[in-house]
Amino acid sequence: MNHNKKGYFGEYGGCFAPETLIAPLYELEEAYLKLKNDAVFNNTLQSYLKTYVGRPTPLYFASRLSDYLGGAKIYLKREDLTHTGAHKINNTIGQALLAKYMGKTKLIAETGAGQHGVATATVASLMDMECEVFMGEVDMGRQQLNVTRMRVLGAKVTAVKSGTRTLKEATSEAMRNWVVNLKNTYYVLGSALGPHPYPTIVRDFQKIIGIEAKHQIQETIGQLPNELVACVGGGSNAIGLFYDFLNETEVNMTGVEAGGQGLNLGQHAARFSGGKLGVLQGTKTFLLQNAFGQVMNTHSISAGLDYPAVGPEHAHLHSIGRVNYTHVNDKQALEAAFLLAKLEGIIPALESAHAIAYVIQHAPKSPSDYVMLVGLSGRGDKDVETLSKYMEANAI
Ligand SMILES: *Cc1c(COP(=O)(O)O)cnc(C)c1O
Repeated sequence: MNHNKKGYFGEYGGCFAPETLIAPLYELEEAYLKLKNDAVFNNTLQSYLKTYVGRPTPLYFASRLSDYLGGAKIYLKREDLTHTGAHKINNTIGQALLAKYMGKTKLIAETGAGQHGVATATVASLMDMECEVFMGEVDMGRQQLNVTRMRVLGAKVTAVKSGTRTLKEATSEAMRNWVVNLKNTYYVLGSALGPHPYPTIVRDFQKIIGIEAKHQIQETIGQLPNELVACVGGGSNAIGLFYDFLNETEVNMTGVEAGGQGLNLGQHAARFSGGKLGVLQGTKTFLLQNAFGQVMNTHSISAGLDYPAVGPEHAHLHSIGRVNYTHVNDKQALEAAFLLAKLEGIIPALESAHAIAYVIQHAPKSPSDYVMLVGLSGRGDKDVETLSKYMEANAI
């Protein structure tokens, strides 16, 4: 691992947790290090991934999109076809299994758009565990569909009413709840964020995306792709796709952040284009903050990318120049979603549409033997209301 200290990726990451969480985080790390090499654990995980999640997910050659753009050949790694419709289930199923092996009986989680909450509620049912999901009151209003899904699955959804009543506060509340219920409770963190060991655990459970994609692209075209592209919220689907390719120096990698409505602070979530080094919720990384170090509110049309901090491993990959990070705005993401729907019959999640928007800009400038492999992190069912409003406003 490219750590100089435990839990660090270069100078980023670490474990900035309150005293009361140091022991449970250590217990988690110990359990994980033991189980990650345990044959029974791995066989059980593999079996769930195959028969329940639906892995391996297909690698699809988007020939109509490639022809339309008239440049690079575009392949889509279809995480949208997993059970519950996004890559999040890869992580929740791994962590739930870890919780079970640690003897825990209850899962708690934070959620923004509700995708991670749904994925956690799903695996709680599957593994016969209790489940409570913390969600900002504002997000609960915006994401009724996922609130209902979690409740149907038997989870308790607890409204968080502090601050901006969105994901950042929901995360703090989940951590507070964990501190007082450590004995029977496991905290399922939803992205490659938080204090050590979470960024490593989440990346390890998501790296299956890249392992499969590498095998599939070599089988299909007999070579590695020229470029990987993925959207970056906390960074779990992107690090999941990139990780197995990091040592393949000829493969370019691009992470696409949310440019929102423009690059003024407060209007976007492009941490690498306006962020500074800081600590938030247990990890040292790039953060959107004002001149006084106060963490800023963010904006994105896609709730899953709408977070002020980026995963610490991405901060490291940015600092060493291994991955290129860029951003597209709300409008470009929306247009990309419609184009993919029209040409390929695939309605992407608006998060994933950010990666497609980058491809729309760059594929036409590339030669026809240039291969772009794009992480399609999720499906767009949850976004139909936003798409509908966009159609009304633009007379589509
Ligand atoms: C949550 C989510 C994201 C953003 O999270 P990452 O940890 O950055 O992957 C992206 N796409 C979809 C479909 C999501 O649900």
